[in-house]
Amino acid sequence: MSKLSLDRILQSQGFGTRKYCRALIEDGEVSIAGVVHDNYKQTLETDGLVLTVFEEEWVVREHVYIALYKPANFECSRKPSHHPGVLTLLPEQFTWREVQPVGRLDHDTTGMLLMSDDGPFIHAQSSPKRHVPKIYQATTQDPVTDQLVAQLLAGVQLHDEPAPLAAQTCVQRGEHQLEIVLEQGKYHQVKRMLAAAGNHCSALHRSAIGTLTLAELGLEEGEWCFLTAEQMAKLT
Ligand code: URA
Repeated sequence: MSKLSLDRILQSQGFGTRKYCRALIEDGEVSIAGVVHDNYKQTLETDGLVLTVFEEEWVVREHVYIALYKPANFECSRKPSHHPGVLTLLPEQFTWREVQPVGRLDHDTTGMLLMSDDGPFIHAQSSPKRHVPKIYQATTQDPVTDQLVAQLLAGVQLHDEPAPLAAQTCVQRGEHQLEIVLEQGKYHQVKRMLAAAGNHCSALHRSAIGTLTLAELGLEEGEWCFLTAEQMAKLT
C-alpha cells in the first residue's frame, strides 16, 4: 500500500463508511502502539501498520486471502436464499471489504473454501485455464466398485459439456468412500459425475486445493485463517 489518511485506512479495512470511520477516530477508538490517534487527517504508512480498534488488534492488509472450513448448510452466494451465507462466518469487516468465495461449494458440501477481496487473484484462481487440482472426499449411496472408479477415470459425459470429463485421480477409500481429484471446477461436478456413472453422492468434502490441505491448516468446521505466503504458494 502507501501513505493514506487514517480515515481512509480504516475505511479500506472494512470498518464502515468514511463518515463512520471519522467518528470512530474522533471518539478515541483507534490507537497505534498504545497511543490514541484521534486526528482522522493524519497520514500514515500502511505497510506493516497495526491498529487497535475497539481494543482489538487489526493488522492493516491491502488484500485478504482466507481459508475457511465451510460447514454444511451455508451458501457461497453473496445473496443466499435458503441458508446463511459463508460471509456470516467471518468478521463483518470482510463483508464491507467485499470479500468473496474463490469458486463455490454447494450448500451441503463441507471443506476448504478460499476467500479474498483481491479481484485479479479470484479471477486467476478460478480461471478454467488454471488446472489447480481440487481433492474431494465423496460418500456414495451405493458401494464403490472397480467399474465406477474406472468410469470416473476414463471420463463421463455430462449433458451440457462438449466432451467427457475425467477425474485426474480416483481412489476407493472405503466401501462407500471415494477420493476424487478434479482439475476443472464445473457446476456440481463431483455429484454430476457420480450420477452419470450410475451412483449418487450422498456427502461431499473438499480436503485440499493444490497441495494445501485443510488438515495442515488445523481448522475446525466454521473456522477460518489468513493464508501465509508459503500456503498461498501451494495453491498452484
Ligand atoms: N462438486 C460438486 O458436485 N459440489 C461441490 O460443492 C464441489 C464440487
